[in-house]
Amino acid sequence: MQNNILVINCGSSSLKFSLVNPISGQNIISGLAECLLSVDAFITIKHQGEKKKFNLPTPYDHQVAISALVNYLIENNLKESVSALGHRVVHGGEKYSQPTLINEDIKQSIEQLSKLAPLHNPANLQGINAAEQVFNDLPQVAIFDTAFHQSMPKRSYLYGLPYHLYKEHGIRKYGFHGTSHYFVSREAAKIINKPSKECNFISAHLGNGCSITAIKNGKSVDTSLGLTPLEGVMMGTRSGDVDPGVIFHLVDQLGYTLEEVNNTLNKKSGLLGVSQLSNDCRAIEEAAQGGNKQALLALTLFSYRIAKSIASFSCNFTSLDGLIFTGGIGENSNFIRALILSQLSLLNFTEDSKGNKAMRFGNQGCITTKDSTPCWVIPTNEEWVIAEQTFKLLNKEN
Ligand code: ADP
Repeated sequence: MQNNILVINCGSSSLKFSLVNPISGQNIISGLAECLLSVDAFITIKHQGEKKKFNLPTPYDHQVAISALVNYLIENNLKESVSALGHRVVHGGEKYSQPTLINEDIKQSIEQLSKLAPLHNPANLQGINAAEQVFNDLPQVAIFDTAFHQSMPKRSYLYGLPYHLYKEHGIRKYGFHGTSHYFVSREAAKIINKPSKECNFISAHLGNGCSITAIKNGKSVDTSLGLTPLEGVMMGTRSGDVDPGVIFHLVDQLGYTLEEVNNTLNKKSGLLGVSQLSNDCRAIEEAAQGGNKQALLALTLFSYRIAKSIASFSCNFTSLDGLIFTGGIGENSNFIRALILSQLSLLNFTEDSKGNKAMRFGNQGCITTKDSTPCWVIPTNEEWVIAEQTFKLLNKEN
């Protein structure tokens, strides 16, 4: 197979990669370089059921990580099978709603969009630059995490703010996790054997970051994450929606600096902030089962806010084909799923407890009773979408 796509998802100190067959979605190798830019930098590569770990040499950066990956590909006769690279890029603004072949202009745009995603776009660009050094003969494609949500109507993406803030500064809802919502909605359409563009779904991507999306006739019409990934439901360490007045109160009355406010809302809130234990849903569930009241409170808030978001998005539909759970929590926590469904009886959701318990660790299937509006657990596969869209763009099938 000479058409594999190397999928790169670059963070400021990490680089996630997969070599994917874009037709079958098969993951040939996958892995992660971590602790980049520190002496502890290392790379883990999963290949043929084995996991190998290598320390990375100085200067411990993204370039070194890519070089280590390429050496591995060469040693295993896989480098020649790579036909192109697909990069996950977090923010595409209003400009990019489609997969885009990367050139100098596009790189400049990604850089300019950094003001909307200061933590993510610069890191994505670092990955693109590092990959270009090594794969200078191969096309590179950007797949934007905001792209799927560009179909939202104005009533969903505008804030009730002075209009010039949108017109002149692009302050609006963009939404994220687009690739994941797109993938699971397409898979759900396959389950009910209906063309995607005739399907109405609400999807809940629940991982460390969480977002809910209303998908009408196959297109995103509203989503819970906003200008930044702080809006919407409560998450692992992010607060989600709070009264914006809380910010002024923290600054004016409690003497917080803006940096402290930012840190509190993004890194110290959510499941971690309420449970005072951890941002890891598994650990909180264990504690709650052991009688820890604060842990139970965190899970109660978390699930109520998600149910409330799902219910609010139902106003986009006159009929709903189903609800989809995905992401680490959505794919594995039958406890959270049951709590959410139990608060959605008005939308005719009834949990099938046995089915719900069975959907864990990569299983896909329905978790509601026959009479219920259907709800499925569908493991996400963003890498496959990135590989497939890269392949299609280069083969002009888009
Ligand atoms: P990210 O957003 O970083 O990609 P993931 O989608 O991997 O995150 O989701 C991570 C979350 O999934 C963590 O809160 C983790 O505790 C939760 N999770 C993973 N497995 C389970 C499980 N078996 N039960 C409950 N929660 C789980």
